Amino acid sequence: MGKVKITQDHDACIGCGACAAICPDNWEMKDDGKAHPKQTELDDVGCNQQAADSCPVNCIHVEKEE
Ligand code: SF4
Repeated sequence: MGKVKITQDHDACIGCGACAAICPDNWEMKDDGKAHPKQTELDDVGCNQQAADSCPVNCIHVEKEE
């Protein structure tokens, strides 16, 4: 089974909180007012695709490594 790699263009994050609301399993808001992924290498995409799709500035990227 392939791994899933999560990347975020942290500078582009506007801190809207959508990803943390939709995918609290892997996204949390921190003191800098921006979202941070809890893990960036996962066995399963889980809710991260929804988080990426919900991001208004498209700064979350989900890559599947075969
Ligand atoms: S949805 Fe995008 S812009 Fe909003 S907090 Fe998450 S990473 Fe930042």
